[in-house]
Amino acid sequence: MYQALYRSFRPETFESLVGQEHIVRILKNQIASGTTGHAYLFCGTRGTGKTTTARILAKALNCTGEGEKPCGECPACRAIAAGSFLDVIEIDAASNNGVDDVRILREEVNFPPAVGRTKVYIIDEAHMLTPQACNALLKTLEEPPASTVFILATTDPAKLPSTILSRCIRLDFKRVPEEKILARFEEICKELGVDAKRDALALIASQADGSVRDGLSLLDRCIAGSASLTRDDVLFLLGVSGVETYISITRSMIEGDTGAALSQFAQVLAEGKEAVRFTRDWIGHLRDLLIVKYVAKPQQLLSVSDEDLARLKAQSAAAEVDFLRAAITSLSRALADARWAPRPRIIIEMAIVDICALRQEH
Ligand SMILES: [Zn+2]
Repeated sequence: MYQALYRSFRPETFESLVGQEHIVRILKNQIASGTTGHAYLFCGTRGTGKTTTARILAKALNCTGEGEKPCGECPACRAIAAGSFLDVIEIDAASNNGVDDVRILREEVNFPPAVGRTKVYIIDEAHMLTPQACNALLKTLEEPPASTVFILATTDPAKLPSTILSRCIRLDFKRVPEEKILARFEEICKELGVDAKRDALALIASQADGSVRDGLSLLDRCIAGSASLTRDDVLFLLGVSGVETYISITRSMIEGDTGAALSQFAQVLAEGKEAVRFTRDWIGHLRDLLIVKYVAKPQQLLSVSDEDLARLKAQSAAAEVDFLRAAITSLSRALADARWAPRPRIIIEMAIVDICALRQEH
């Protein structure tokens, strides 16, 4: 059976976690010195490695191997990786109806570990626990049973009661930088024997929005069944626009040609692209133009091909800093408003009109 990339390439040790070095350092220190806590709160946006880290910590707390923990090789590490270890209990608060959660937290919590050293409860989407389950959890956290560790993962810590927050060691997961996602993609493609071009992978990484899991799902879609991957493949498969589209619509705005800019925007939507996503990437393009203006060797900040860099430089030279700043500000505001608007397209069109009007005043 085919297994999704984010499952088959799920990190099994702290070393292979991507982009969360600050958290890895804390946890490794605690494990080495035997000072791990009874309750952790892992916060961060989706796909940044919270559940994966929770499983690695669960392994480290039960690992029977020699040397640095988790070893990834001993029976406990293997069973936890396979999801068959009796003392690691995962609760998905978003999908359970709450009755089970309460029972597990009230009753089962008091039993000692069955096979391992430490019982680990991983509570995913902890902010979705029912009030009853929250109360049961709080009681348990007030007097944590020996050899039991709770790991709460959440995208929205503000929704958890402060009584629970105050009893947890809080660790904040960062969005993963594009270059780290790109490096991971390169490793994976090498391992799979896929001849993927760097600019193709960079484009996918730029669409992942800081989430390794989302990035891997996109990569999955792009390389499904093929032995090679080019940037054009990605543009086609993910329905994203190439630099040329952004250059062209930006040029119309620089020239103050409102009609042309609006027509090009309509064309993009007619091709089936989403207004909000296109605008987000367009702001990214304007940001790239600013970077090129100021940074002498911008390759590392941009992850674009040499050809695209030359085009960016040409457009950047034609645009004034004030214009770029105004355009970024205006489109960013429109983007924020558009997320909640019934017809986001209109909000973005208004921004285009405003930005072009700025040029006409000159
Ligand atoms: Zn082990």
